Amino acid sequence: MRKTLLLVLLLLPLAAGAQDSLYARRLIRDLTAPGMYGRGMQRSGDSIAAAYLRAEMKALGLRPLGDDYYQYFRFPQTRTRPPIVRAGYRSQNVVGYLPGATDTMVVFTAHYEHLGMNGDTVFFGAHDNASGTAAVMDLVRMAAADRRLPQRYTYVFLLFGGEEAGLVGSRHFADSPLIDFHKVKLLLNLDLFCGGDEGLMVVNADSDETRPFVDLLQAVNDRLGLTPRIGRRANAPNSDHWYLSAHCPALFIYTLGGPYGGYHSPDDTCDGCGLGHYHRHLTLIRALLEQMP
Ligand SMILES: [Zn+2]
Repeated sequence: MRKTLLLVLLLLPLAAGAQDSLYARRLIRDLTAPGMYGRGMQRSGDSIAAAYLRAEMKALGLRPLGDDYYQYFRFPQTRTRPPIVRAGYRSQNVVGYLPGATDTMVVFTAHYEHLGMNGDTVFFGAHDNASGTAAVMDLVRMAAADRRLPQRYTYVFLLFGGEEAGLVGSRHFADSPLIDFHKVKLLLNLDLFCGGDEGLMVVNADSDETRPFVDLLQAVNDRLGLTPRIGRRANAPNSDHWYLSAHCPALFIYTLGGPYGGYHSPDDTCDGCGLGHYHRHLTLIRALLEQMP
């Protein structure tokens, strides 16, 4: 009975419609602006984006992890194709947390950086991954400002750099963690979060420690009908959950189907990023947190 009531309460904001993606749209537009230079090494676009996200975390009332919300790392190798980077170039993860009633942690992650520039060509990276970054910041907003996430958990928010060059930022975090991985109940990585006409895919869905969470996600969706389908894949080194999944239960969720502007092309723009399913996806994540034992 109590759970049914909770679900009804969760669904109420659906009536508000497109208004609920306004914050995400603003963040995606800002992160894909020409002055972010595709959020790569060129013209320090990655650092401009990081400073923007740090200010947003501060404004929303997160507490800092690392060095004033930054965890610095350096790129180990030079790359000559996008993302073009120089060995030794310094970038950063942007990291914060919100203490809850217990120190049991739920961790949300997304990579905020993208391919940067190749000559004059800018890779805007709306789908990949301004969209996942915006969703994580929306969860910051829900947890910190609105208190709309269950308050029994301590929430950790990790926005990684260096993903496109080979998971450099998240690997650094896994090697030099700023949290106790033993206290992490669940980590959710969001990468490629525009669109979703065909549902959602969950990566690392079939390990003994993660399967119960995916089963619960499916059960919630069976009752609420928030997305057409939830697919499952074995673990793969295709996003930032990879190195972290060795230390805690970690899922990577991405959308299936459009609309989005493109993938690893200059066409991956804010205008191409459909957010028609966005609010339902976030509602599904909130419902999962509510229902977790
Ligand atoms: Zn990505």
